[in-house]
Amino acid sequence: MQEILDAINAGATGDDIANIELPETYRAAHVLRSEQEMWQGVESADKDPRKSLHVGEVPLPELAPNEVVIANMASSINFNTVWTSIFEPLPTFGFLDRLGKESIWGKRHAQDFHVVGSDSAGVVLRVGSAVRNWSPGDHVTVHCNDVDDQDPSAHNDSMLAANQRIWGFETNYGGLADLSIVKANQLMPKPSHLSWEESSVNALCASTSYRMLVGDHAGRMKQGDNVFIWGATGGIGAYAVQLVLNGGGTPVGVVSSEKRVELLKAMGCENVIDRREEGYKFWSDEHTQDEREWRRLGKKVRSLIGEDPDIVFEHPGRSTFGASVFITKRGGKIVTCAATSGYMIEYDNRHLWMKLKSIISSHFANYAEAWAMNRLIDQGAIQPVLSDVYDLEHVGDAALAVHRNQAEGKLGVLCLAPEEGMGITDPDKRERIGEDKITLFRRMS
Ligand code: NAP
Repeated sequence: MQEILDAINAGATGDDIANIELPETYRAAHVLRSEQEMWQGVESADKDPRKSLHVGEVPLPELAPNEVVIANMASSINFNTVWTSIFEPLPTFGFLDRLGKESIWGKRHAQDFHVVGSDSAGVVLRVGSAVRNWSPGDHVTVHCNDVDDQDPSAHNDSMLAANQRIWGFETNYGGLADLSIVKANQLMPKPSHLSWEESSVNALCASTSYRMLVGDHAGRMKQGDNVFIWGATGGIGAYAVQLVLNGGGTPVGVVSSEKRVELLKAMGCENVIDRREEGYKFWSDEHTQDEREWRRLGKKVRSLIGEDPDIVFEHPGRSTFGASVFITKRGGKIVTCAATSGYMIEYDNRHLWMKLKSIISSHFANYAEAWAMNRLIDQGAIQPVLSDVYDLEHVGDAALAVHRNQAEGKLGVLCLAPEEGMGITDPDKRERIGEDKITLFRRMS
């Protein structure tokens, strides 16, 4: 690995990179099939990813013609890293086994280890024989939409592809590792003004928020729209706030601490609700919701912006969904991509149909959407929300912090990058965009 790192640091490209011999094994964060039952009888909150995420050597698989080998300089923790490491709602080995039955290339993924991680910023080391647009030495970020481009169902919107998968969650050889294999159609140019770790945290969360709010398939936000955002300093929420501001809308952000209130205001979000301070209790017991509490939230939103939200950016799930449906404007949209607190959802359907509201589902983003989002980051219109950085050996600590809702924005993980701050190739552009803007989350978290 040292030879690879030295070549990257020396700015090597083309044959100088392509001629470096790749190792047979590499360091990777992974869970083990033999441990997938380890949390039997343990409450979700008590499951500790430090016990299930191992960092050790795994074999480098053979490269398919449409794939590349990446040297991951940095990666990030996503909530799916938490799901895999606590084996909820299902162990991810079932996904790998299904992929293993699809093709000879798919078979490589069905292993007794699962290398996790659905983000990366790094350098292309090898390209398969069918790869046209990328070369060894290219600096890239990786989006996590794994699709088979020979499948006709993948061609209107690849998120509708019958065998669409999330790389590093439903496939093996993810980004929390020194090397990865990814399909060439997952690659995007790395923003030149950002460091490796700043570049590595965006693709999954930012693209998800882009599709939910901006793309043609979900929220289709317009200038002037009011957008209510749960978890507004969290991974997807912090990009949602920026997209609303950048698109001429008004965000109303919900968070759960004074520190997050300050962070949100520093981002330019004037309408902030501290849900802990307000003490909302949407569920009076495990089975009963309290409409008066939904109404209290609705009144709070009206007191801030004078109107109801055109769009509610929904992801906490069971704990908030009833309230989200209630507070949405007549004819408005509830856009959902997740259910962190529980996926068996209850809401009062009268508030939906009588007021002609729509619930719209959204999941990650297609290549065009991820590319459009990456371009906004490259232009400096949207900033990375990196709040802290861990090294790969401490990936379990980082996953635990996300599991316990202790982290703002995104947590970066250094893989091959030996320290923070490396990989910036256009310092002038960085200065033009503004160091303070780029590092806001790092400074305030
Ligand atoms: P995150 O960084 O942990 O942020 C989530 C935020 O939600 C937290 O900061 C918290 O903010 C808020 N929250 C958590 N539980 C809540 C509750 N019960 N009620 C109200 N607010 C709550 O996670 P993330 O990366 O943003 O991901 C959020 C969810 O989206 C996860 O379930 C993840 O798996 C999912 N996701 C789905 C996709 C997709 O493609 N479908 C992509 C990315 C993420 P406060 O405590 O400050 O309010």
